[in-house]
Amino acid sequence: MKKYTTVLSLLLAMTGCTSSHQDTSEATLTEKDGYVLSKGERAVAKNHRIRFLVLHYTALDQAQSFETLTRSEHVSANYLIPDRPKTHKGLPVADQLVDDHDRSWHAGVSQWKNRSNLNDTSLGIEIVNAGWDQDTGQLLGEPYNEQQIELLISLARDLVSKYDIQPTDIVGHSDIAPGRKIDPGPFFPWKRLAEAGIGAWPDERTLDDYLARFSVAPPSMVQVTKALQTYGYGYLDEQPERVVEAFQMRFNQENVSGIVDIRTAAILFSLIDKYHGKDKASAILLPPEVAALG
Ligand SMILES: [Zn+2]
Repeated sequence: MKKYTTVLSLLLAMTGCTSSHQDTSEATLTEKDGYVLSKGERAVAKNHRIRFLVLHYTALDQAQSFETLTRSEHVSANYLIPDRPKTHKGLPVADQLVDDHDRSWHAGVSQWKNRSNLNDTSLGIEIVNAGWDQDTGQLLGEPYNEQQIELLISLARDLVSKYDIQPTDIVGHSDIAPGRKIDPGPFFPWKRLAEAGIGAWPDERTLDDYLARFSVAPPSMVQVTKALQTYGYGYLDEQPERVVEAFQMRFNQENVSGIVDIRTAAILFSLIDKYHGKDKASAILLPPEVAALG
């Protein structure tokens, strides 16, 4: 019996089940209905549930955007950026329609970095803008305006820092639902956002290197596909051209064709180089026979 109790107390000590560690000082306690919650002991192993930031346009005017996103039983977003933001004490006002820790219904069927149903793991920001026509390649209304973009940058900066969101995890709706969604479109100022520290963008010098390299020996479609997948895109088996279009709307807005030109490929590999490492980019670009040996 003595042996048994020794083993038991050893086990309890190992699993942390002793009460001796429990900090029950008043500051850590909250009285609830029928029990008391202690936050005296806190775990180290954790991360944020929110991993991705998804940007959209509403394709509606300001009044319709508010009406739809607050009254619809099918769609919503965590935040709405109006096209004429109100100001309060000299600062522009963003509208929070759904709390960060609640799921808003903005992403729909979606994939990014091997995850699906991005509503579970993302925040959605809707921006009031009429959008663009994919057939003509033209804007359907006014471009995004300065006040909106400044407000968006301030809001996104706050969320990125709060939830430690990585540059490659800031995406457009079209990135996570290529072919099904075309927002925030090829007129959205992704470069401007990246310069303000929001989202990914290639380095100019690396881009020049890949441009020079690919004008002599462009990568194969297999290598481009592998790189798109590495960067985060899904749906490459089903509709590779739509994925290329989504990538171009984001990073090569002059050529939204679904056809991989040298510049598109060079931008893609510059991004892999910057965010996944030069070794990763080189490994994807190995000739097939070398890759097979490796
Ligand atoms: Zn959208």
